[in-house]
Amino acid sequence: MIANTPPASFEIEPQGEYSLEESASFIDAWHKAPADGPAGGGGHLHLAFLTDSGWEPVGLCLTQAASGTVHADVYGSGETMRIKDQVARILSLDVDGRGWPEVGRRDPVAGRLQNTFPGFRPVNWSNAYEAAAWCILSARIAMRQAQGMKDRMSRELGHEVDIHGHRLWVFPSPERLAALGSFRGLFGRKVEYLNRLGQSALEGRLDTETLRRMPPDESLAALRSLAGIGEFGSQLVRLRALSAWLPCAKRME
Ligand SMILES: [Zn+2]
Repeated sequence: MIANTPPASFEIEPQGEYSLEESASFIDAWHKAPADGPAGGGGHLHLAFLTDSGWEPVGLCLTQAASGTVHADVYGSGETMRIKDQVARILSLDVDGRGWPEVGRRDPVAGRLQNTFPGFRPVNWSNAYEAAAWCILSARIAMRQAQGMKDRMSRELGHEVDIHGHRLWVFPSPERLAALGSFRGLFGRKVEYLNRLGQSALEGRLDTETLRRMPPDESLAALRSLAGIGEFGSQLVRLRALSAWLPCAKRME
């Protein structure tokens, strides 16, 4: 387990409207500690994932100031600046959203959505590896069953992180997936596909930022070349982990 040591930290200034609580609600992860009290005002979004650089388990405590700035405490090792980039990608904070309110003024459907979910931005999978594993795990079973199995795998084979007393489990690293012999609930060729997925990740074929920089057709072909990932899976990973945006969206430099 990763000890609860004094964390490194960083801040992200969202470009445009953004609500951390909306992100947290989207993944049902808004965390309010009793110690927050009314004076603390807000809540926290706790995330736990494997880092882009080196598949290291890391935990994040994210809070948002009234000014909009997102503050992050990092629990675990890893390069803080790369973790910052990863968090920005996960929370869609690497996209300049300053033109988004204008879209709502022109398009009543978008406008209504903006009013219903103020400051909402899509929350992405933490990386392409975990998204691809989800595609394999969830094939031909109900979503809830798949979520239960993923949670069990994280607890039994993954890594525990302690975020100021809140324990979360990170999905198993590629080494562990590559070495997986069996796991209850996995049927057919799922174990073999997960083994090969872990191996592909270790070979560097699942680097999220590399896949993200590729033209769409190329990244989809790269994802389809993974064992157990078909047309649907490749599209899902691209949309939900590579944070594929519409051409009108502009990436921040
Ligand atoms: Zn926290």
